[in-house]
Amino acid sequence: EYILAIETSCDETAVAIVQNGTELVANVVASQIDSHKRFGGVVPEIASRHHVEQITIVIEEALKQAEMTMDDVDAVAVTEGPGLVGALLIGVNAAKALAFAHQKPLIGVHHIAGHIYANRLEEEFQFPLLSLVVSGGHTELILMKEHGSFEVIGETRDDAAGEAYDKVARTLHLPYPGGPQIDQLAHQGEVSIDFPRAWLEEGSFDFSFSGLKSSVINTLHNAKQKGITHKPEDVAASFQASVVDVLATKTYKAAKQYNVKQVIVAGGVAANKGLRTKLTKQFANEAITLLIPPLALCTDNAAMIGAAASIAYQQGHRAGWDLNGNPSLTLERYAKRSK
Ligand code: ATP
Ligand code: MG
Ligand code: FE
Repeated sequence: EYILAIETSCDETAVAIVQNGTELVANVVASQIDSHKRFGGVVPEIASRHHVEQITIVIEEALKQAEMTMDDVDAVAVTEGPGLVGALLIGVNAAKALAFAHQKPLIGVHHIAGHIYANRLEEEFQFPLLSLVVSGGHTELILMKEHGSFEVIGETRDDAAGEAYDKVARTLHLPYPGGPQIDQLAHQGEVSIDFPRAWLEEGSFDFSFSGLKSSVINTLHNAKQKGITHKPEDVAASFQASVVDVLATKTYKAAKQYNVKQVIVAGGVAANKGLRTKLTKQFANEAITLLIPPLALCTDNAAMIGAAASIAYQQGHRAGWDLNGNPSLTLERYAKRSK
């Protein structure tokens, strides 16, 4: 089946067409990063306005790329949450209008289910699998025993990994979004500062990054008072070493404990070179397959929404015309509903 998918939960207006949940037929992403950069982060009102301006153009562009018309499309899918409410509503209403006008079924998708299913555009899933979700708003370890089932076995108790990257980047006066900037700097520096790693209680798969973030801020502040300067490259390298160490170690332990066949990485921070390298090394000699999406499918896109929607479509899930943007939709509630 062909699914046209729409994603507008944050600051990318994205439309894709995906075949059978595994083949990418068209993928268009209109990024707003330049409009938000001067504010140092995403401004919700600006995001909504851009989505309104872009959505029709991006839908048409995706159909053109696929050399298809709406007649060739079997269903329309859209991110219903979580995300910025005003931004979500633009996508949801566009999807409803499109589906209604062309008499196509409508499917609501959870944004994080989308991030996970980006991996299925690369390789078929083998269950049980463990997904490390690391994005701007989420840091979770999710166990999947079958399609459409998501068990959160660990999550951050404070900041998300991407959020920590963005905040530390701001402390280093790097432009938004800070993740890619720090990643790049880290490769030019030395791990010379011993930043803390929050392992939490023995056996816990939860995460915490706020202590690390504060430690970076305090270290820079104290150094300044003493007249010492740390090279930003070294701060970036040391910070990244701490984040990657905790993420990779907990993922490895959970993968072993739950005896999974695959480990899949999802979300914007999956683009991180340090994390990709460490995980690749860690699973190199294991009978566990590691999947990490290509860079373009790590950060927000609609291809991943189309991939997740395919499973919901096959499981018979259909949204009603009362579908709404749900800024705080949980994966558990989405999983239950899609059964
Ligand atoms: P969520 O998916 O939780 O709703 P989001 O959609 O805003 O949040 P994504 O688009 O998945 O998040 O990812 C964006 C985040 O990924 C930002 O915090 C960004 O700094 C981070 N990021 C992107 N590339 C890298 C990288 N190479 N290294 C580290 N972080 C990165
Ligand atoms: Mg984004
Ligand atoms: Fe995202």
